Amino acid sequence: MKVDHVGVAVKSIDDALPFYKKALGLEPSVREQVTGQHVRVAFLQAGETAIELLEPISDEGAIAKFVRERGPGLHHVAFHVPGSLGDKMRGLTQDGLSPLEPAPRLGARGHHVCFLHPKLASGVLVELVGAK
Ligand code: ZN
Repeated sequence: MKVDHVGVAVKSIDDALPFYKKALGLEPSVREQVTGQHVRVAFLQAGETAIELLEPISDEGAIAKFVRERGPGLHHVAFHVPGSLGDKMRGLTQDGLSPLEPAPRLGARGHHVCFLHPKLASGVLVELVGAK
């Protein structure tokens, strides 16, 4: 499995971008709004892995809560699942590692995603990305 992206919660994507450009030469390849998650996101491709900047667009949603309670920072690590994400989720559930969602849901860039609770992964929120 490869790391697909690392999610970073920010107050403002536009305020965060100059660091990535000046220090690392990275610019957004994708910007979109994920209304269901109350965020807008920007993906900065760094080799095979991307940095996903997540900015809350309302006071609702997990990212707004995260930024409010902990401030901006590392939010999740996402792995690309080869094959069917639904099959992977069923296998995890059988192994006692149930994802937070019962089925894959549509995330950014047209990918399907699910999340695994941080208590399962030493305090790290893990996202799985793949085909439904
Ligand atoms: Zn993500």
